Amino acid sequence: MIIIDGSEGEGGGQVLRTSASLSLVTGQPFQISNIRGKREKKGLMRQHVTSLEAACSISASECDGLAVGASEITFRPGAVKAGNYKFAVGTAGSTNLVLQTILPALIFADGPSHVVLDGGTHNLMAPPFDFIERTFLPIINRMGPTVSAKLVRHGFYPQGGGRIEIDITPAPLQRIDCVERGKLWSTKGTAYFAGLPFDIADREVKAANKVLGWDEGAIGVRELPEDQGPGNILILEAAFENVSEVVSGFGKFGLKAERLAKTAANRMKGYMESEAFAGPYLADQLLLPFALAGGGSFTTVKPSQHSLTGADIVERFTGCKTSFDQQKGGEFLVRVG
Ligand code: AMP
Repeated sequence: MIIIDGSEGEGGGQVLRTSASLSLVTGQPFQISNIRGKREKKGLMRQHVTSLEAACSISASECDGLAVGASEITFRPGAVKAGNYKFAVGTAGSTNLVLQTILPALIFADGPSHVVLDGGTHNLMAPPFDFIERTFLPIINRMGPTVSAKLVRHGFYPQGGGRIEIDITPAPLQRIDCVERGKLWSTKGTAYFAGLPFDIADREVKAANKVLGWDEGAIGVRELPEDQGPGNILILEAAFENVSEVVSGFGKFGLKAERLAKTAANRMKGYMESEAFAGPYLADQLLLPFALAGGGSFTTVKPSQHSLTGADIVERFTGCKTSFDQQKGGEFLVRVG
């Protein structure tokens, strides 16, 4: 039994999700206490419960102590079964994080799967669907499996009500090296808004353009059906030959449109000025699949606490070590395995 203190390192939900994913694939049970011990609202939230319920449903696993608010659970993994699955978070909690919990297991399963997930699709502190579709999954697909994702409906906090659908065709994960991002192909962006004034999205476009100076019309506005709101997100995307970076600015009550857009645009600017392959979020999300592939390498910007903690959890379950070495240009070379 692997014993995890959920308040160590980054101390958030990723510790739990990474442990559940690795437990399903490696067959090792784990017990975690102090779940999300470094978050203001500690313990399991609805989204984490759904992630663990989904992990149990795709396998013959058992999870003791599973309840909203719980600070300790014990997970005993069973055999994973491919199939058609549907899970609902029940709140605006992130569908994309539920997907990330069960995806590794379904990639190693005995056949193709189709998964429908209801809940939030564009959540603060979680990968938005656009990131999963255009930043994360293309790398997974390069490693062997075929995973495609479709956004059926946007779901924003606090209403939720979004839906994503995913098709997974397993294949052995091959190790890859992602050191060069390659030539820049295109830059674009969209300010989405639903059930809110057009002016908000328009001001975001103007503020982002001011920082980035991209071609006229590269960042546009898209209104979503009113019943998918209220919601607002600015998505900025730079597509390079070998990787696409999706940076997002999440609209929330009380946050000025200009401020949101300026922060997101400056993040994109920082990424574009670096030579790194992976931005900070992709970096922490690649550690697990790379370890399951037996190793691999990529360059990234300064490693986040999520990456450092993720590397520790991965090592606990797989024995696979990760090193982070700063390169002359300032970026970091991450070697897994
Ligand atoms: P936690 O905070 O521990 O629940 O983990 C959050 C996860 O969401 C991490 O794997 C982050 O990489 C990911 N994440 C958070 N914000 C974003 C974002 N804006 N774009 C992509 N991934 C994100």
